[in-house]
Amino acid sequence: MFEKVLIANRGEIALRIQRACRELGIKTVVVHSEADREAKYVKLADESVCIGPAASSQSYLNVPAIISAAEVTDAEAIHPGYGFLSENADFAERVEKSGFSFIGPRPETIRLMGDKVSAKDAMKAAGVPCVPGSDGALPDDPKELVRIAKSVGYPVIIKAAGGGGGRGMRVVHTEAALINAVNMTRTEAQTAFGNPMVYMEKFLENPRHVEIQVLADSFRNAVYLGERDCSMQRRHQKVIEEAPAPHIAPRHIARIGERCADACRRINYRGAGTFEFLYENGEFYFIEMNTRVQVEHPVTEAITGVDIVQEQIRIAAGEKLRFRQKDITFKGHAIECRINAEDPFTFVPSPGKISFWHPPGGPGIRVDSHVYDGYTVPPHYDSMIGKLIAYGDSREQAIRRMRIALSEMSVEGIKTNIALHQELMMDANFVKGGTSIHYLEHKLAAKGEVKK
Ligand code: ADP
Repeated sequence: MFEKVLIANRGEIALRIQRACRELGIKTVVVHSEADREAKYVKLADESVCIGPAASSQSYLNVPAIISAAEVTDAEAIHPGYGFLSENADFAERVEKSGFSFIGPRPETIRLMGDKVSAKDAMKAAGVPCVPGSDGALPDDPKELVRIAKSVGYPVIIKAAGGGGGRGMRVVHTEAALINAVNMTRTEAQTAFGNPMVYMEKFLENPRHVEIQVLADSFRNAVYLGERDCSMQRRHQKVIEEAPAPHIAPRHIARIGERCADACRRINYRGAGTFEFLYENGEFYFIEMNTRVQVEHPVTEAITGVDIVQEQIRIAAGEKLRFRQKDITFKGHAIECRINAEDPFTFVPSPGKISFWHPPGGPGIRVDSHVYDGYTVPPHYDSMIGKLIAYGDSREQAIRRMRIALSEMSVEGIKTNIALHQELMMDANFVKGGTSIHYLEHKLAAKGEVKK
């Protein structure tokens, strides 16, 4: 096992990784920007290194500074968390070339899955069902484009091969709008991702977002840890996640889960990963793979008892998976609410000093957060200040516990989206389970109409 791990991230996930390291008896180095200098999790670490000013481009994305922090502290491995450099193949390569272990997949795997066209090709070859669409990247020839769109069937969605974070996508409903939409997406993709390659998919009108968590070691052993439903989204940002996904038969999950584990073996995947699917009319359609730990990993930990972050570290240290598929069991139900520093209804970010912080507790409640009384939420980063996870024997119990937890939770000095979560936990359709990815936006739009 490693003796010392450097955590190249911030906020709740930096603390989460630190806890996993401690439990494994590993010393931690936390790198931080000037804006995060005073954070408690930075002080809790065995060592900390300031890697630059507040702007992430000069700190959390500053590869040379992170590598030299690992060098001066004698760390053996680097955990990238999520976001920032976690899916940057060049960073993973630099880490390994500098003699450190990267706690994640091999750089070539990150590269393969980071390009959505090559990722889809690899998944098709592995027998994972994908959204019907163009065979790879779109050509320039307008006639060909028209032919492809016709065979896929409108509406279609044009997506950038290098896209991410919900950007670089355009829905097209008619042939008349097609060529212009392809050209615009290409131009945007070139500007935003430095890669003009685009592809086409059938636009699914009312899907759910259901994803499969996997773990794979360096010896081609792979398991799936069940699914998560992350359909409650706003602007492609997940707001609530849960496991298992309501109303999907376990044998259906098992079938798709086996495919994902098999795909991991085929592409020689290493570490934790997530296969994201759209789910519509009883069918799964692969859209992309995330080659890192996800924000929503705790709901899977709750129903499987597997510590995903610890397993990531063990795998990177060269250990074999400690369980086989038959050892993985699913018990109960877990729901996660992402707590953001923002107005609950206008969504305007609300950074600033937290004058009072009272997290909830009790049976089945887990709070993953780095904040505390007097903590100042910096304006430079993502607005998520923590995650509230409720576990129960049944979905009903998890919802009841979440309602109680939200009512106990108190945050003063800044605005948070707690009120939105309270409303959603009482929403009849959420309680029924199985709402689509458009549900929240439609609900918010309808509310806006009523107010007007
Ligand atoms: P990103 O990497 O930017 O998150 P994804 O490919 O995961 O891009 O897509 C993000 C979101 O866009 C999905 O969660 C879904 O809401 C929507 N989307 C993507 N592809 C389709 C599709 N073929 N049909 C309908 N919605 C889609």
